[in-house]
Amino acid sequence: MNRARLLIFNAALGPLDYRVPEGVAVEPGSVVVAPLGPRQIVGIVWEAERLPGSEVPDAKLRPLLSVLPVPPLKAELRRLLEWTADYYCAPLSSVARMVLASGGALRGPATMTEYRLSGGMPERMTPQRQAAIEALEGEQATIRELAGIAGVSEGVLRGLCNQGVLEPVQVDCDRPYSRARAEHAVPVLSEAQTAVTKRFIDAVRARAFAPFLLDGVTGSGKTECYLEAVATSLELDRQTLVLLPEIALTEAFLRRFEDRFGTPPVVWHSSLKSTERRRAWRAIAAGTAQVVVGARSALFLPYANLGLIVVDEAHEVSFKQDEGVRYNARDVAVMRARFESLPVILASATPALESLQMAESGVYERLVLEDRYGGARLPAIDTLDLTVEKPERGRWLAPRLVEAMEERLARGEQSLLFLNRRGYAPLTLCRNCGFRFQCPNCSAWLVEHRLSRRLACHHCGHETPPPPACPECGELDCLVACGPGVERIADEVAVIMPDARVAVVTSDTVNSPERAAEFVERAESGAIDVIVGTQLVTKGFHFPELTLVGVVDADLGLEGGDLRAAERTYQQVAQVAGRAGRGAKPGEVLIQTRHPDAPVIAALAAGDRDAFYDAETEARRHAGAPPFGRWAAIIVSSEDEAEAKEGARLIGGTQPNVPDVAILGPAPAPLSLLRGRYRYRLLINARRSAQVQDVIRDWLAPLRFPQGVRVSIDIDPYSFV
Ligand code: ADP
Ligand code: ZN
Repeated sequence: MNRARLLIFNAALGPLDYRVPEGVAVEPGSVVVAPLGPRQIVGIVWEAERLPGSEVPDAKLRPLLSVLPVPPLKAELRRLLEWTADYYCAPLSSVARMVLASGGALRGPATMTEYRLSGGMPERMTPQRQAAIEALEGEQATIRELAGIAGVSEGVLRGLCNQGVLEPVQVDCDRPYSRARAEHAVPVLSEAQTAVTKRFIDAVRARAFAPFLLDGVTGSGKTECYLEAVATSLELDRQTLVLLPEIALTEAFLRRFEDRFGTPPVVWHSSLKSTERRRAWRAIAAGTAQVVVGARSALFLPYANLGLIVVDEAHEVSFKQDEGVRYNARDVAVMRARFESLPVILASATPALESLQMAESGVYERLVLEDRYGGARLPAIDTLDLTVEKPERGRWLAPRLVEAMEERLARGEQSLLFLNRRGYAPLTLCRNCGFRFQCPNCSAWLVEHRLSRRLACHHCGHETPPPPACPECGELDCLVACGPGVERIADEVAVIMPDARVAVVTSDTVNSPERAAEFVERAESGAIDVIVGTQLVTKGFHFPELTLVGVVDADLGLEGGDLRAAERTYQQVAQVAGRAGRGAKPGEVLIQTRHPDAPVIAALAAGDRDAFYDAETEARRHAGAPPFGRWAAIIVSSEDEAEAKEGARLIGGTQPNVPDVAILGPAPAPLSLLRGRYRYRLLINARRSAQVQDVIRDWLAPLRFPQGVRVSIDIDPYSFV
């Protein structure tokens, strides 16, 4: 009797057994369809001994319905999924769901209908039809996409179809991507770059687990070097995965990639259209997608023949996912490389302390690029003490920074002002009664966005137009904006330098690959004099005419007492400073601060990275913080405040007494209300040797909570709110 155990995507049910009908072949990793009650579900065949389930007698098993036309998930990937579930205390089914990230792809080969102009003309021409025909010259897409391109309704285009002006074309949904060519435009590398590249190429050829930390200053050619590793992987006909932290960065990378290899790579991110998603997924699973560049979700895809993983800007916080499966893509990338016996390159100008420590202890091989490429020098960095050099009343930019910007404008060079705050002002209050606008769903202030005329919560997305009168006291025109966001800084620049062309760059204004491309093009062509941006502008961009960077408020990130506050501040400021003087002209960086003597600010000004890392390492060692100790968080939440509190008390009341493990709380989380849920938190601090995950699992397993209570576990947390 042939039975199969299935991992199914319903954590509450657990694994289920089925009978494999005569003539059907399955193996571990096969993706299959099975009956569940009256429904059909998708499952993955798993080794029964690795997935405990209830032993149903043979006679009672229902038969599998079909095997889906996709390659079985490889054993290495299955082991990675198990490891991820185990390490992050997440259900295996939730982790596995990230592999099957395209429903369409599972259905097998398919065609779809696209439309293009036939050359014919409609019987009756209207201005709308005229405009559509002009806009659609050379385009081929679905009706809906064409409507978007032409800016007309789908109805208008259907009319044109009926008249034969648009003709249908059958397209293969899985048509192959054009091939990247390793020899397309081979760069001439510097001596230092050649040495680094050689290590990569040897490792790709060897195809063994080899983790590298590529530690090179901004503009040293890290990208240039790892692209040569990609070239070797291409030559060997293996796939490469490049993880980038932000979709906004992808655009610059795509162009660079195309310059080097003659064609863009395959892109993967959460806002792909479903047709693009299925095409990419199937090419990845078939092994024909040569290089995939993507956000963290690309990590779990079922590559047929992976040869190399690159994590660029590997220190970035956005590799940590804080919802669903709370995993760190940087760390899981290293594990994937281990399971699949591959080299993995973590590239950064400001590596995470954890990564440096791994290099220190000999686990990672650290490769260093000390100088910028082509003789460009790192910018001169100076602090500007806001308690001494005060901005004018109601302004945020100190006179010396303003002068430096005016000089740049006069010389036709660009300035970049960095402030990690979206919108116009972080807080709005009533001048008359002091009322503060707060989110109804979160314990957070509403942020004013003037460009889009709304008050918005950055946590839950709640929005409301600014009211004409105070909702509390009814006074008209009494709202005051407190503190600056990037929009307010942009307004200030417009007042001080009316001739300057200013661009605000945040996730609000640059929210798609197209907008990112547009921004890069405007900046490169010299159509922007001053860029005002959030952390979105700190990385990746290379604008040779950008010679001044102003950090509007370096103290901002140090507030709040986050474990990584100093490290993050160091990284952000060093990265944004790295945007200055990347071309022939030298760069200058001015850091506005109220605490020029704070160790992290002083280290930045002195350009003394080692001093900062040494001090930070000691502080972490002393605090038992990562990489020397481990943290984990348990968050209990409910829409009912009492229920959340009771759940937290239950957990707190049964806390285990384990050597080398300290448990703090429960206490209300700093964000005690988030998206309508009340939150309590326990923090666990442990020695590295302690098995924190086992401790937490054993602790929580016997506890039962009411329906509305959610308990989530965050291993190695990045967010402490
Ligand atoms: P990083 O990734 O370290 O910030 P990049 O790879 O982006 O550095 O390099 C910085 C700039 O120098 C880029 O414009 C890149 O094209 C250029 N560059 C670096 N190395 C070379 C090289 N060997 N030949 C030509 N240009 C190079
Ligand atoms: Zn909110």
